[in-house]
Amino acid sequence: MRFISATQLFSGKDFLNSNVVIVLNTDNSIEDLISSNDVDATKIEHFEGIICPGFINTHCHLELSHLKNTIPQHTGIVDFGMEIIKNRNNISEELQLEDMQQADTEMYRNGIVAVGDISNTGLSIHPKKKSSIFYHTFVELIGLNPERASSVFDAGRQTLTQFIIKDLACSLAPHAPYSTSTLLIELISQMCLQTGNPTSIHNQESKAENDFFNSKTGDYLRLYDMLKLSLDFFNPTNKSSLESVLPYFTNELRTLLVHNTFSSQQDVDFANKLHPNLYWCLCPNANLYIENTLPDIERLVKSNCTLTLGTDSLASNTSLSILNEINTIIKHKPSIPLKTLLKAATYNGAQFLGIDNKFGSFEKDKTPGLNLLQKKSTQYSVTKIA
Ligand SMILES: [Zn+2]
Repeated sequence: MRFISATQLFSGKDFLNSNVVIVLNTDNSIEDLISSNDVDATKIEHFEGIICPGFINTHCHLELSHLKNTIPQHTGIVDFGMEIIKNRNNISEELQLEDMQQADTEMYRNGIVAVGDISNTGLSIHPKKKSSIFYHTFVELIGLNPERASSVFDAGRQTLTQFIIKDLACSLAPHAPYSTSTLLIELISQMCLQTGNPTSIHNQESKAENDFFNSKTGDYLRLYDMLKLSLDFFNPTNKSSLESVLPYFTNELRTLLVHNTFSSQQDVDFANKLHPNLYWCLCPNANLYIENTLPDIERLVKSNCTLTLGTDSLASNTSLSILNEINTIIKHKPSIPLKTLLKAATYNGAQFLGIDNKFGSFEKDKTPGLNLLQKKSTQYSVTKIA
């Protein structure tokens, strides 16, 4: 049994009194939180810094780990997407698996205990089975043409089955508003609701996405032209992408909106009014990598959005570290309270993935992991201590 105290303890929801001691069992489960007055002082391990629960990375693509340092920065989303398509099978599956394994180890060392991971195939099953990290896989579906909705859905269910039979947590997820028909979104959200699972969608990562929905103009026409896909069936909605697709997600469904870089106040108000189970995932390092911009995080905080954090993939990030995402937000948006960021990195992510019975907060019988954060000038470092 260990008795652990720190300069500051963050429970997952709030900072605790400085005299609180975490009592940890040998299996790293929490036995209790007690006052330092109730334990022999010589037994206490004291750490200088902040101790918080293990981090939850709610948005990653382990499958793209081999694309580290491959795709140029600041190209914008359309050219980024084309580079992904061009390069994603540029090395053997065996080498892709090695890079996934390495990415998994990197996340573990960086204090990440659970990941919401986007997958298009079953290739990541092996590293996920071997990992010490908990994975919830979002099998991602792409199909803008509504005529293809049922065949894409069926193929997605087959991929999902590969994860289910290996006893890995998983559910279906639409890729993005500009790449998934509302019919397909309805099929996915009905299935997720039936199985009690969350879903996820990339949202408003670029201005082009809103242009596409508002007026069927903008950079996505170039993408579909390059892919030689007809858009005859697609009619502009005269609304933003979020306003156009969110009504097709059942509102009891825990739904993650990833990026939100170009979400206006009108979008945020609309979404929060319509859907009570939304989580807004920030991936600031990927936003800087691809679009060289950041979402209006102050707006999301002021509007009481439930925030989570994600690393996105090594195709659009130089590391897989939730702490590096926090450091980036601190650097660019110093007015955002640390408490808000730590809660996004721990409790909110665990609640979204439906794993808050084990992860995301310091409470009796949970096994959330313990991270020690130490500040050097304006940036934090992380050490996993349990
Ligand atoms: Zn992504």
